[in-house]
Amino acid sequence: MEYVLKTNSLCKNYGHFKALNGLSMNVPKGSIYGLIGKNGAGKTTLIRLICGLQEPTSGDYVLYGKKHIDKDITKSRRRMGAIVETPSIYVDLTAYENLKEQYKVLGIPSDDGISEILKLVGLENTGNKKAKNFSLGMRQRLGIAVALAGSPDFLVLDEPVNGLDPQGIIEIRELILKLNQEHGITVLISSHILDELSKLATYYGFIDNGKMIKQISSIELESKCRKCTHLKVSSTKTLAYVLDTMNIEYKILSNTEADIFEKVNISKLTTELSKKDCEVISIHEHDESLESYFVSLVGGARHE
Ligand code: ATP
Repeated sequence: MEYVLKTNSLCKNYGHFKALNGLSMNVPKGSIYGLIGKNGAGKTTLIRLICGLQEPTSGDYVLYGKKHIDKDITKSRRRMGAIVETPSIYVDLTAYENLKEQYKVLGIPSDDGISEILKLVGLENTGNKKAKNFSLGMRQRLGIAVALAGSPDFLVLDEPVNGLDPQGIIEIRELILKLNQEHGITVLISSHILDELSKLATYYGFIDNGKMIKQISSIELESKCRKCTHLKVSSTKTLAYVLDTMNIEYKILSNTEADIFEKVNISKLTTELSKKDCEVISIHEHDESLESYFVSLVGGARHE
């Protein structure tokens, strides 16, 4: 697999406090990588490091094949657009003027492409309206437009839906999906709301106390979070036979335990099993939501 970004045992200390404590992550090319962690887990610190706004205390990262200490890292960074914490926009300027300013910063001489970017983020009809009169969602989309100014193929968004109303959240989500699916942009998006990320992420990195707890693809995560009935029986061999005859999907976990992935008529199943001398020891519904999976990984309160 090709990776846009690889971090290796990245550490960032603030005095004695380890905001990042040996964090390793890999962002696959073409993915929407959801970086999920509670407040204070280290998400913004990580993003500040990879954007070059701060230096790591130790460890390293590789962006588009260039190590962060390589002098050519600036070339890799030009392929990257980011919103760190709040969008960098001038509130006294219009959307178009904001883009022109960003073009100047990037040394892009003409205005070519500004109208297309504004159209892409749905701000093409804002005319003379200044950014200070935009809704929060519009400001966030303008922030994304500014981040898109250098035609990046890697976009980094720090908590982009924080504080937005449901409509604003939907607009940002659809924009991110469009940028990823239609424009091939790899997206790293941080959030403390797993449910929101789950609507778009193709990969997840669970971060806690400055460490990567788990990286997992959305396909793997969904299969882990499937609703199922967990059964303990005297013989899973007999159980498998009975479930096969009932055409029910299952997974054998041991000689005595199995998961069933479909709604099952328990009384019919127990009757069939007792006919074959198979005893049912326990049955329970197992419905692990993404959120409870997250809690099971990172636990309760943050440990300082
Ligand atoms: P949030 O969702 O609240 O933004 P986060 O996961 O982005 O959280 P960070 O902002 O990276 O977390 O902060 C990680 C930890 O590092 C926090 O405990 C924070 O207080 C601490 N921290 C961040 N910046 C500094 C700093 N400049 N000096 C001292 N401590 C800092």
